[in-house]
Amino acid sequence: MSSLADSPGILWIVATPIGNLSDFSVRGRAVLTQVDVIAAEDTRHSRRLTEHLGVTTPLISLHEHNEEARSRMLIDRLQAGESLALISDAGTPLISDPGFVLVRAVRAAGIEVRTVPGPCAAVAALSIAGLPTDRFVFEGFLPAKATARRQRLKELADEPRTLVYYESSHRIAATAADLASVLGTDRAIVVARELTKMHEQSVQLTTGALVDWLAADANHRRGEFVLVVAGAPVIEKTVRDISLDALLAELVPVTGTKQAAAIAARLTGVARNRAYAQALTLSDTG
Ligand code: SAM
Repeated sequence: MSSLADSPGILWIVATPIGNLSDFSVRGRAVLTQVDVIAAEDTRHSRRLTEHLGVTTPLISLHEHNEEARSRMLIDRLQAGESLALISDAGTPLISDPGFVLVRAVRAAGIEVRTVPGPCAAVAALSIAGLPTDRFVFEGFLPAKATARRQRLKELADEPRTLVYYESSHRIAATAADLASVLGTDRAIVVARELTKMHEQSVQLTTGALVDWLAADANHRRGEFVLVVAGAPVIEKTVRDISLDALLAELVPVTGTKQAAAIAARLTGVARNRAYAQALTLSDTG
């Protein structure tokens, strides 16, 4: 067992570019240079980045299949005083990427976790979409199977906040078809592909038009995608949505049963005698 150091090391969560290597931060490079080890989703992929940056720190793999076991080993190293950085293939670790198991375990062990923030495809797409960003729902990848995918979309069909999805070139056409069939063909949607790369493209369409746009040109279906979908229109609650009982409970103490019944009948559309009978019940029980 490793001997415990006076103070444990720090786990750094370091964001990397989502396409354009120039987006890597100066601080990110300094942290990757100084830590004892870098945990990476795919070490071969990340070695290209570290070589580009001139960073020689050793890399160790941490992916969904070994995260549990690796986390225990890495916590031992942190407790022995080593410091560690976690990076993923692209963007911010843990955002549709490995790292949650590690960060949770590191926190549970009382070890400090720090961030070097940077690119994230979801935030980048939101920032250029021109759809409301004051509140949004990040849904990551939709399920691969059509039935589960449609079910997931149905669950948020009435969600008023902007929705953000990740998608790959393999499934973009199927997902677009499902979005149109579940949410209707008129919902505003921004398709953002290849952000920060040579073929970066983002267009605002409707869910119906997206299906045609993808079918029209094979290039439109290439690369990595973020879909930013306008939330469902908010339907103003009308007084007809208020229950008769709730309305009468407010009115009876102020106006008496007769007038309360008349107002409630007018506002809710129920028969006046029914409203009156109900008002009497309420005033009896009150
Ligand atoms: N951790 C990453 C982040 O912070 O955005 C996301 C990793 S997830 C495994 C990969 C998905 O992110 C892609 O399938 C795509 O949906 C989205 N993505 C990543 N880079 C992108 C880019 N340059 N343009 C558009 N979408 C991108």
